[in-house]
Amino acid sequence: MTRDEVSAAYAEFRIDASMSESDAMAALELLAAVVQRSADAATAIAEQDDPDGTWQKQADELEDLASELQNITIDVNTECPSCSGEGASDCPTCGGSGEVEPTNIGDSAAGETSRAVAEAFARLS
Ligand SMILES: [Zn+2]
Repeated sequence: MTRDEVSAAYAEFRIDASMSESDAMAALELLAAVVQRSADAATAIAEQDDPDGTWQKQADELEDLASELQNITIDVNTECPSCSGEGASDCPTCGGSGEVEPTNIGDSAAGETSRAVAEAFARLS
């Protein structure tokens, strides 16, 4: 059953504050890819034999879930902690840009992203 594969992938999915933005994006993309694959599998079955439309319904739900997951963005705070994003030209941390490239996504981005994923999965019937 494709649905089990999706549940297993979701059970293993973790975003935490210490991840880099690219690792967190990769985890999201991996999850979306599993869902997309399951949606494709359900579509293939629906095209073969689906007298009561169960598989088509499942394919549609998984398709919606995959596109929701693909649309989730990770909103990392890049505000320079030294000058509070003001971009003072003598700021040693950011050199005046007001922004820094964070080494990890932080609690707030991790929480928001995890919540968005949980909400997307909560809509699965
Ligand atoms: Zn600064």
